[in-house]
Amino acid sequence: MIVSCLGIGIGAGARIAIGEAYLLCHGPVCVTPSWIPPEAVDAEIARFENAVEQASKQLQAIRDQIPPDTPGEISEFIDSHLLMIEDKALSSGVISLIRQRYASAEWALQQHCNALVEVFEQMHDAYLRTRRDDLIHVAQRIQKVLLEQHDSEPEELQGQIVLAEDLSPADVILLHNQRVAGFVTEHGGPMSHTAILARSLGIPAVVGAQGAGQVLRHGELLILDTDHGCVLAKCDQAVVDHFQDRREYDFRRTALLRQSVREPACTRDGHHVQLLANIELASDVQSAVENGADGIGLYRTEFLFMNRADLPDEQEHYETYCDVIRGLPDRPIVIRTLDLGADKPLAGTRDGGGCGNPALGLRAIRLCLKEVELFKPQLRAILRASVLGDVRIMLPMLTNLWEVQQTRALLRRCMQELDAEGESYNPKIPLGGMIEVPAAALAAPVFAQALDFLSIGTNDLIQYTLAIDRVDNEVNYLYDPFHPAVLQLIKGVIDAGRKAGVPVSMCGELAGDPRFIPLLLGLGLGSLSMQPAALLEARQLIRELDARTLRAKTADFMAHLYTADPLTLLGHWDH
Ligand code: PEP
Ligand code: MG
Repeated sequence: MIVSCLGIGIGAGARIAIGEAYLLCHGPVCVTPSWIPPEAVDAEIARFENAVEQASKQLQAIRDQIPPDTPGEISEFIDSHLLMIEDKALSSGVISLIRQRYASAEWALQQHCNALVEVFEQMHDAYLRTRRDDLIHVAQRIQKVLLEQHDSEPEELQGQIVLAEDLSPADVILLHNQRVAGFVTEHGGPMSHTAILARSLGIPAVVGAQGAGQVLRHGELLILDTDHGCVLAKCDQAVVDHFQDRREYDFRRTALLRQSVREPACTRDGHHVQLLANIELASDVQSAVENGADGIGLYRTEFLFMNRADLPDEQEHYETYCDVIRGLPDRPIVIRTLDLGADKPLAGTRDGGGCGNPALGLRAIRLCLKEVELFKPQLRAILRASVLGDVRIMLPMLTNLWEVQQTRALLRRCMQELDAEGESYNPKIPLGGMIEVPAAALAAPVFAQALDFLSIGTNDLIQYTLAIDRVDNEVNYLYDPFHPAVLQLIKGVIDAGRKAGVPVSMCGELAGDPRFIPLLLGLGLGSLSMQPAALLEARQLIRELDARTLRAKTADFMAHLYTADPLTLLGHWDH
């Protein structure tokens, strides 16, 4: 019988993944009560004893790998855990719960551990109380063996589907480097940076699949169907064949679309749409080129800061930007300044500096203007790189006009320094801003006066307008790009740009969503920036559309925004 669990599918280009499950466990183990039939007691005790032996071997292996110059306390610490694991007092309590109460090994261990922890907590001696933590660590190590969970990324994950409670954007980069076939997380939303990165790197994924860790087993064959946000296990051969055929179909369709990659993205009535790529790493430029991007509409530079303890210096920023510019010479390259914070914390800090609501906290331009020493090397590096191509600067999360003014003042200071050092730069480098905070969208005419271009960041704009945390899977169901408030804001920004004669683009995920593109063209948007893998489908779609008809339909729809049934909207855009 097929086992399935549901989440939200993240796929672009590659939408199906087939591979063995790899259970990755970063956090604490969660054990729920479970029991065994009386006849399974001996086998369960053997399972428990085997897990104790495995856990003990793991610790011995760790101790054997300790470099000789490591302080002695480290190996003593591991020895104390080894002693605890091998202590008969720990095992005997668990075994008697299995034998007398028919508890499963993991549940018996959990109960026994809880009882011992309580005893430790009542002790007055501070040292003995700390042994309580050792006990918990030891029990968790045995639990992880019983539940077949693994603590850290192994050497070889190629072709496997990683299953984790949650993954950070930084983890996704590591998984990509290990060439995983896909991943499943129990938490997270489709607009989280983890999901965006998976799309961008072409890793099929299902996020927010609650309970996946309870029903899926390490090593079993899994199928990810990102169109339906579905993870399947225990499939018979016919089902596997079906999904292999679908995967083949996707490969063939991508190859077919690639043939028209050099065709202009023009509607049937000759309206040209600029198609730009969103990238996270300099190496993504390759994929932008292969998929026919007209330039880079969003380079998320904060990824330069991930998976490392130190900070990149000006020269590293500069060399990375040069790589991107050389990859797409003579094309616009929009470098977004650091959007650190929230789910992309700066190394060594907690998200949002540990504040209660990091998405509303000290992130993006707010952090940069406060920590000028973080910001200036980036601005100087962009300026130096600006002589190599059509480089533009874009500021994230603008809320107040003075954030633009302060940045301009800082840019002037950097230019003066570069003048004094004899470095060249483009003194007229365009400065644009992301409109992703509702206040900025409402005040778009003001920002349009102060900036050279605007780009609508719908991921955050929707998060803030609808008051839903984009990484919280509990409120994913409220994510509604067709909400009248969201549509009004988007329209307002496009209109403000048109009136001021300032170009407007969109770089949120909606820009690459084929369900949304007709509406965006109907609203008069002429530039879309999306993950490279979405460019092929977008180009194909645009070539089938008629801009004049879309404008008329959109005007009609917007006039009835508060009375139209949103569910009819998708049909409304049938072309
Ligand atoms: C957005 O918010 O729409 C956006 C493009 O920026 P990010 O997803 O990096 O926050
Ligand atoms: Mg954003």
